[in-house]
Amino acid sequence: MKPIQSKRLAELGSAIFSEMAQWKKEVQERGVDVIDLGIGSPDRPPSPKVMQVLAEAAMNPRMYGYPTSEGSHAFREAVARWYKHRFGVELDPEREIVTLMGSQDGLAHLALAVTDPGDTVLVPDPGYPIYSASLVLAGVKPYFLPLRAENDFLPKLEDIPEETARKAKFILLNYPSNPLSAVATLEFFRKLVDYARRHESLIVHDLAYSEMAFDGFRPPSILEVEGAREIAVEFHSLSKSFNMAGRRIAFMVGQQDAVRALRVLKSNIDYGVFLGVQEAGIAALEEDMSPESRPVAGLYERRRDIVIDGLKQAGWDIPKPKATMFIWAPIPKGWTARQISREILYSAGVVVIPGDAFGQEGEGYVRIALVQEEERLREAVQRIARFLQEARP
Ligand SMILES: *Cc1c(COP(=O)(O)O)cnc(C)c1O
Repeated sequence: MKPIQSKRLAELGSAIFSEMAQWKKEVQERGVDVIDLGIGSPDRPPSPKVMQVLAEAAMNPRMYGYPTSEGSHAFREAVARWYKHRFGVELDPEREIVTLMGSQDGLAHLALAVTDPGDTVLVPDPGYPIYSASLVLAGVKPYFLPLRAENDFLPKLEDIPEETARKAKFILLNYPSNPLSAVATLEFFRKLVDYARRHESLIVHDLAYSEMAFDGFRPPSILEVEGAREIAVEFHSLSKSFNMAGRRIAFMVGQQDAVRALRVLKSNIDYGVFLGVQEAGIAALEEDMSPESRPVAGLYERRRDIVIDGLKQAGWDIPKPKATMFIWAPIPKGWTARQISREILYSAGVVVIPGDAFGQEGEGYVRIALVQEEERLREAVQRIARFLQEARP
């Protein structure tokens, strides 16, 4: 038999995530009640209204034909209304919006639609794993942009070699960021648009956490920058903003040729999102634009305070993030990210992710996901506090 797995497959996926899953299993088999602050899956359901619309759609016989891969006109119209409402940006539902089976679908496939093997693409380090995985699938070389605390976790555009910048097909960024929980201002986006224009590169911006921001901060869309829609696309997902992670619906908007390219690729691969889920998506966007809208942010703001304030009392000082469901915690001296994550799990029964799972620049940090109720988070903080008192690297 010839080897079954492709060489490509071997390059995919961080070994750390499967190792972590193994550690968790081991600890659970010892009877420990593990508190999982690892994977960033929202723990709350969508609003009752959204679930009601989906339930009714599920009983509607007309919903069961093949949808279209670019998404229903009605869903794209709702996206355009929401963009105008939220960011003041006008979009053409026909040419500037494509519906996705989750951002993951679009992020995984975009490189295949807009690059050729051997091209260069700029991606953040640390970054969400699908970014570099999508480049492996497309045979494209990633150039990693180091994101460091001393630069507020923004890339230093002037440090990118001119030659690399000129070759780069696109530059991918994500603010508010997973795993960094860092944010960007409209002013940074203006500089980025300028930079991309000079080098004739597409900008790909992942705005999955636009609705999860705190202390009054409202994350901007890059498309608010004058002329950005000629050079940038932006990903949004209903997974985090409306607790719909299992429902698989998202969208990409902006630069027409990139939207068209992704639509063409997807029309060869899939038949789109179940119409009932698109109806639920419309309901979620409409509800968000209504006066009764109750954003998810407040919930995570309280959880953030419980964990950050609690760990501070235990002597672990971590900056307070302005957005996302993650805490990017610089680890105490003497540990590696992997060692401390392992110890926190084995001796405190709490899962956190070592920062280097997101790229080599993540060494020195762990990511804590705020995906448990307040009571469980308090318990996790107590256990980690005890661990910090007793443990030595
Ligand atoms: C969760 C997340 C997404 C959303 O993915 P979906 O496939 O839409 O569920 C996209 N980007 C980042 C950075 C995320 O953390």
